[in-house]
Amino acid sequence: MAFPLTAHWAGRSIYDIDPAALARRGIRLLLADLDNTLVPYGVPEPTEQVREWTAALERHGVTLFVLSNNRHPERPGRFSKALGVPFIGHAGKPKTGSFYKAMEQMGRTAEETAIVGDQIFTDILGGRNAGVFTLLVEPIRLAGNPGRYLRYAVEWPFRALTKRRTKPL
Ligand SMILES: [Mg+2]
Repeated sequence: MAFPLTAHWAGRSIYDIDPAALARRGIRLLLADLDNTLVPYGVPEPTEQVREWTAALERHGVTLFVLSNNRHPERPGRFSKALGVPFIGHAGKPKTGSFYKAMEQMGRTAEETAIVGDQIFTDILGGRNAGVFTLLVEPIRLAGNPGRYLRYAVEWPFRALTKRRTKPL
């Protein structure tokens, strides 16, 4: 049963996502949330670990594409350019427009596309509505913002359901 508030797969972090397994599923375009998915809020540049994981995806024919709701005019661009990947900032997830725009830009269908993110009500809901494969990870760091704890609490049942149903990629 497809339920729009559960993801197809759940893991602890992006590093639980095996690039070879994604490629075997026919995924060629991996849309990725930025804040608290690739790096914590406020970390301006990709870490060495993110760079290595992106390179591993590339070796398996999977292109990373940053799809960020961050409204800062420079944050998503600076990070993505440093990582050498395409991006859309102020993406408006869960609205599907930015998902379709990214797929069109990269010449990929929904069947060839996945989204990874740490939030149910933006990343996963948007991905479900756009018809792509959805991967849920835990937020890297909740500290410093009470709103994030509240949101996490509201998401909790859908996270729990996703985790209970998840199978290896
Ligand atoms: Mg996020």
